[in-house]
Amino acid sequence: MALVNENFLKLPGSYLFSDIAKKVNTFKITHPKQEIIRLGIGDVTRPLPQACVEAMHKAVDDMAIAERFHGYGPEQGYDFLIEAVIKNDYAPRGIQLSNSEVFINDGAKSDTGNIGDILRHDNSVGVTDPIYPVYIDSNVMSGRAGVLEELTGKWSNVTYMPCTSENNFVPQIPDKRIDIIYLCYPNNPTGTTLTKAELKKWVDYALANDTLILYDAAYEAFIQESDVPHSIYEIKGAKKCAIEFKSFSKTAGFTGVRCGYTVVPKELTASTLAGERIALNKLWNRRQCTKFNGTSYITQRGAEAIYTPEGKKQVKENIDYYMANAKIMKDTLESSGLTVYGGVNAPYLWIKTPNGVSSWKFFDQMLYEANVVGTPGVGFGPSGEGYIRLTAFNDHDKCLEAMRRIKNWL
Ligand code: PLP
Repeated sequence: MALVNENFLKLPGSYLFSDIAKKVNTFKITHPKQEIIRLGIGDVTRPLPQACVEAMHKAVDDMAIAERFHGYGPEQGYDFLIEAVIKNDYAPRGIQLSNSEVFINDGAKSDTGNIGDILRHDNSVGVTDPIYPVYIDSNVMSGRAGVLEELTGKWSNVTYMPCTSENNFVPQIPDKRIDIIYLCYPNNPTGTTLTKAELKKWVDYALANDTLILYDAAYEAFIQESDVPHSIYEIKGAKKCAIEFKSFSKTAGFTGVRCGYTVVPKELTASTLAGERIALNKLWNRRQCTKFNGTSYITQRGAEAIYTPEGKKQVKENIDYYMANAKIMKDTLESSGLTVYGGVNAPYLWIKTPNGVSSWKFFDQMLYEANVVGTPGVGFGPSGEGYIRLTAFNDHDKCLEAMRRIKNWL
């Protein structure tokens, strides 16, 4: 008899976006003539940069010729992409990495979800709240999260660090030791960031407490302000305490192509129960070689093109396009009397629902009265209650129309 991993049974049955889809479908059936605008799910709408398209076409041609055909590639990724990442994303910021510290993957979701494979099941976990749900759910699956406390909606072995308007979305440094802490900046869902000085406090905490920081920088490319770090390794000592995840998904429209990378510095170690220090780079490499067979050659050639002069220019155009949406959204919503966070260094706007209305109630009202779909903040964690998330990933015209509708409605 095969026994199931019962940890999976602890996960709440329905998933946030399927609940939203159900509500939207009901609305569509009951209002067949109304056209809705979706500012909910964080998927890009603009096509791939031309430089990436051309590089991928060329890579397909390589695959058609015996001399240039590529079968299984290195599980860690091809050196041509790893070197482009190091040369462009790290070296200019004064961060030195060797090729074997960068692992190319099929997007940040896989690695942020899988990284727990190399960590014991009984580590304590800390998350900022609200949070990208993968961090919690993957820990539930491995039995690390404990049990769900129905009343609070929190997991018993997880420390939640609230990020709300009260603390300006800067999580408070815990007053106790936590083994593993997830940080995501620029943040999904709040769109807020930490300054270098604020992030330094986390690195100092981690070094003092032997904590591992799992730093998700999937939205790094959207940073506009100069004192916001693009990598946790900009902070001295971070290589000793942090793993960093990055993604080409939102940067270059790769949500459907699938490519990103994870940095596991050689000097980063964690302990065995007996106290022996083990290099996490070695463990992650072992894990990847066993469970991952590499990102496709075609995809990696496409990602490499992001770093060419044309690629950089086209990626910037994409980001500028979404950030122009974000600015219009922020300005319109604020002039309509709403309090809006984020949207400056990230494509997400985190809006306080007026008059203490709940996230889901505001979601329903906005759907039925303005025909605009957002994401209820409470779906990202208990501290998201009383907020709604809108994304700037949409066509400019649709964004303008959505803002016009919300303004009229309010
Ligand atoms: N991390 C964060 C914070 C995200 O919001 C997302 C996607 O929405 C991901 C990681 C996953 O990105 P991908 O797997 O497309 O690289």
